[in-house]
Amino acid sequence: MTTDTPVSEIQRIIEELRSCSIKPEKIVGKHKVIIGLVGDTAILNPQQIQQLSPFIEKVMKVDKPFKRASLEFRHGEPTEVFVSTPNELVTFGQNHPLVSIAGPCSVENEEMIVETAWRVKAAGAQLLRGGAYKPRTSPYSFQGHGESALGLLAKAREATGLGIITEVMDSADLAKVAEVADIIQIGARNMQNFSLLKQVGAINKPILLKRGMAATIEDWLMAAEYIMAEGNPNVILCERGIRTFDRKYTRNTLDLAAIPVLRTLTHLPIVVDPSHATGKAEYVPMMAKAAIAAGADSLMIEVHPDPAKALSDGPQSLTPEQYKALMQEIAVIGQFFGRQSQKLPLSTGVANLNIHKATSIV
Ligand code: PEP
Ligand code: MN
Repeated sequence: MTTDTPVSEIQRIIEELRSCSIKPEKIVGKHKVIIGLVGDTAILNPQQIQQLSPFIEKVMKVDKPFKRASLEFRHGEPTEVFVSTPNELVTFGQNHPLVSIAGPCSVENEEMIVETAWRVKAAGAQLLRGGAYKPRTSPYSFQGHGESALGLLAKAREATGLGIITEVMDSADLAKVAEVADIIQIGARNMQNFSLLKQVGAINKPILLKRGMAATIEDWLMAAEYIMAEGNPNVILCERGIRTFDRKYTRNTLDLAAIPVLRTLTHLPIVVDPSHATGKAEYVPMMAKAAIAAGADSLMIEVHPDPAKALSDGPQSLTPEQYKALMQEIAVIGQFFGRQSQKLPLSTGVANLNIHKATSIV
């Protein structure tokens, strides 16, 4: 619809389309109002729709299997996912500063989670990650402290004002997780747990959807579509590496090309998790920086106060000091690419940037 369309006219068109037994959905963008039609649209004649109102600018068909997640569905306008943390309103989106998420793989005890929260906050993180329910390959590995860990995340949130991101593995725990989490994570192993996707689609919390370890980009976008089809538009994609043939030197293969590819396909924000992608702390900073250069909107990084003693994913966890050094570099690199961090604004103008100098901060 053209931007000057009266609200009553939009409503009239929606009512009229509804009588054709399809589901019209109103999307109010910055530059356009879009009415998305989802359902058996094969019976619809675009010319007839066009004639419904002179305010209809264009009628177009989305040929991709993912509809709501497609770039066309929002006429190319990037989605903004707003997360209201106690400290601030954090916005994930292409036209916003970088968002920094950090924290341990698992919540181990109160002292470690609260200490980690303070330290990542001091380094510039806006959200604290930490698993209460852990999807482990072995049933004999640490499975997470469950509900009691959710309580500890709530304490860390209250103490530091950081937003919380934590994984839900089972829909039976969803209500409890949603009470504490500002963003709910769907892990790689559950990316195609369709009943779980439908459940998180039925609530209004932002969802971080990690890419399945053997998922194609289209599988991943179809998983996002499951969530969006239930009415939750607040989906954030997270690239965390995919399985390829070499597992000797890295845990997974970080698919950085997925970022520019996704930009041609979807309006959803993109987070990169270099920790699970590489599996080794020594490679995390380089891949984090590469992710910014490739256009990621946010980074999620595992940080542990004492990685050698971590109950899960110690080898890939940065110390708080390493994280702080990385964040300083990211501030420089982000600014170079026009994506400064929401925290740590640099006084240096882009013209004065010296990337080589910045590298020596580590
Ligand atoms: C995690 O974030 O701790 C995690 C288990 O990630 P993934 O689902 O990507 O393996
Ligand atoms: Mn982990």
